[in-house]
This record gives sequence, C-alpha cells and structure tokens, in this order.
Amino acid sequence: MELDSLYQQVILDHYRTPSNKGLSAFKDIQVHHNNPSCGDEVTLNLTMKDGVVKEITWDGVGCSISMASASVMSELLLGKNYQDSMKILDAFVELMQSKGKSSGDEQLLEDGVAFAGVSKFPARIKCALLGWMAFKDAATQVMA
Ligand code: ZN
Repeated sequence: MELDSLYQQVILDHYRTPSNKGLSAFKDIQVHHNNPSCGDEVTLNLTMKDGVVKEITWDGVGCSISMASASVMSELLLGKNYQDSMKILDAFVELMQSKGKSSGDEQLLEDGVAFAGVSKFPARIKCALLGWMAFKDAATQVMA
C-alpha cells in the first residue's frame, strides 16, 4: 500500500508540474495522437540530431495518467539515441502489458515504474501509452 501511494504521488507530481510541456518553435516533426476512449490528446514536437533525441516538447489535454506519462516519457527519452529510446519504450510497453505482474525495470524506466499499477486496468493502458506512441511515431518518421 505504501508503495502504491508513493507511485500515485509520482504521477500527481508529473501531472501538476509536467516536464517539457509547451511546444517548441522549431522541430523536425510534429505528431498528434489521441485516445478517444478517454478523451486524451497529445501533440508532440521532436528534434533529433545525429540519431540522438535533442528536443521533445509536448502539449495536451487529458487525464492525469496520460499527461503524467507524457511528462515522464519526455524526461526519459531526451538525450537518448534512437536505439536506446526504443529500448526504453519497449520496456514501458511491456510493463503496460504485464497485467499487474511486473513492477518494471527501475534502472531503465526510472519514474516510469510508477505506472506499473496502471497495467491492471485495461481501460487506462492507452492513457499511459499515448505520449509514448506519439514519440514512437515521430522518431520513426524522423529516422526513416
Ligand atoms: Zn486518459
């Protein structure tokens, strides 16, 4: 129980003071993703240089899980090269598909493990994945 409330606090902190929120003036690409089942929307601007994530900014409206997860994603993936960003992203997707059985790799996912409990609620998994899927879409297009 204590762990759960700690995790809730991490999510609330990111929701109240999100990182990298507010779209940058310059970007390589902009993508817009939404999650109609909850009404969450994320617009993401991505800039990459020499295969490394140089800038991720985002804006959006939605539930605390979707917004907090986008904030965590932007913190974690900034400065990573494409391969490492996809490794982290895959680990987060795997955690979301674990149905509550995994607690996540904290070395790799840092604050992302706070969302482990979300994997028990199928309706919320898309909320948690929204920002991450926007990043994947953007990064894949930039690297193509
Ligand atoms: Zn949502």
